[in-house]
Amino acid sequence: MEANWKPFRIKVVEPIRLLPRAERERKLKEAGYNLFNLQSEDIYIDLLTDSGTGAMSQAQWAALMEGDEAYAGSRSFEAFLDTVREITGLPYILPTHQGRAAEHILFSCALEPGKYVLSNSFFDTTRANIKACGGRPVDLPSPEALDPESDRPFKGNMDVEALEAFIAEKGKDQIAMIVLTVTNNTMAGQPVSLENIRAVSEIARGNGIPLFIDACRHAENSFFIRERELGQGDRAPLEISREVFSLADGCTMSAKKDGLGNIGGFLAMRDRKLFERCRERLILVEGFPTYGGLAGRDLAALAVGLREALDPEYLRDRVGQVRWLAERLRESGIPVYWPPGGHAVYVDAGRFLPHISPEEFPGQALACELYLEGGIRASEVGSAMLGREARFQFVRLAIPRRVYTREHLEAVVAALVRIAERRDSIRGMRLVAGAGPLRHFLARFEPLPG
Ligand SMILES: *Cc1c(COP(=O)(O)O)cnc(C)c1O
Repeated sequence: MEANWKPFRIKVVEPIRLLPRAERERKLKEAGYNLFNLQSEDIYIDLLTDSGTGAMSQAQWAALMEGDEAYAGSRSFEAFLDTVREITGLPYILPTHQGRAAEHILFSCALEPGKYVLSNSFFDTTRANIKACGGRPVDLPSPEALDPESDRPFKGNMDVEALEAFIAEKGKDQIAMIVLTVTNNTMAGQPVSLENIRAVSEIARGNGIPLFIDACRHAENSFFIRERELGQGDRAPLEISREVFSLADGCTMSAKKDGLGNIGGFLAMRDRKLFERCRERLILVEGFPTYGGLAGRDLAALAVGLREALDPEYLRDRVGQVRWLAERLRESGIPVYWPPGGHAVYVDAGRFLPHISPEEFPGQALACELYLEGGIRASEVGSAMLGREARFQFVRLAIPRRVYTREHLEAVVAALVRIAERRDSIRGMRLVAGAGPLRHFLARFEPLPG
């Protein structure tokens, strides 16, 4: 019991409802079987993303009221800067309205067209931004990650041998940057070990290649390092995160994740010249360097949220909630990627619906069933999102931070169990509209005839 104690209680309540089944059928059809097209009020439990969907604390709401909306030199920016410097130790910091803006500014200033950018696995917007700037993104995930059943502690790692081989083959001058995504979102939210980050950093420094951290979930990653890595059990997540950033030349961050904000992000680095180029670009596309794309009150709330996200009790509760859901599903015979990551449970729709081929989007079909069955919204991370590059057919159940209770998650388990009972009758889908690397946001589908 004590290990499970909940480190907060609920102060503000947002009503939600479950539409009748016939209504859900109609809404889904109107949405072109793409859950991004549904309205929030049509959804009972929303597990589409953990990005910007968390609940702020009373300390964050209080900070919001004290936001300083000065165009230049806002004291909320100073508070934000203090927090980001304390956590990252990086000297040059630019606020942005969210993670992808930080990515775009970085790659548009640091990338020469035709050069490679190597990663343990890129997130979809990161990959798309690199391509938009003429770069060539390459994923080098650990081979362990490709086995969805092996109970290994750090399946988000980069394949260090493959990294060395790639540098030897193409030449270090052809590689613009290495990006480590912690935790590794496209690889089922798996953590990256400190040992792996140290090894990648050594290779990067030895070859004069800049290493950036995609730090969206650095706090969850540091919690896993503390729980699972030899000799790390006594260290605070903050201390571990500080070491991770000390091994890098900079980072991009979506503060909608481990910043506990509803909007926000930043770009940070050590190189002054690069910073000056990025700052100029920031003014062009986001805003003045003391607010980026944010209001002063957003910066004030993030200054608090970025610290709260490193609280070990908060992290124990968060990662524990994700683990609880994954364990209940697994016990019920629902195939889930194992072990669970920090922010989401990834249901393996490829194994759940083996009669549907990747070309017929088993993940999309299952995500639609989940909405029909329980009013639950999840996202597909499979051939609908990633095309032929998809290594798995996942339905991602992303858990918003501090939002849902165990009862909500029990309803998710119950819905999937009911779907499992009639899984043989579920049909695949056909893509009727949508193209390009970010097609999943706007695509439309149709169920195949039975
Ligand atoms: C969310 C996310 C991003 C992009 O951040 P936005 O705030 O959504 O623009 C980049 N990388 C990873 C790993 C993410 O999860």
